Amino acid sequence: MKKHGLLDDGTPQRCGWHGCRVTMGGRSLNRHVLMNHLDFKTSCPYCKLRLRTDHVSVHLSKRCRANPAKEVKEVKKAKRV
Ligand SMILES: [Zn+2]
Ligand SMILES: [Zn+2]
Repeated sequence: MKKHGLLDDGTPQRCGWHGCRVTMGGRSLNRHVLMNHLDFKTSCPYCKLRLRTDHVSVHLSKRCRANPAKEVKEVKKAKRV
């Protein structure tokens, strides 16, 4: 009989992803990482492109055309011979 089903996955561990404070059991944590960090669960708030969570920051800073806060420094590097 499970009481809560939450502590059934082993010792709770903290998610190691940057900025993520989730703490849960091993199996749940794996699933959490898959669902929240590794899958295409995130979309860019500006252009709605679906992204891996760990690619969002790169996308936002370099690739997103719709992001008003994008760094524009890269533009001059466009020449490539
Ligand atoms: Zn996490
Ligand atoms: Zn975007």
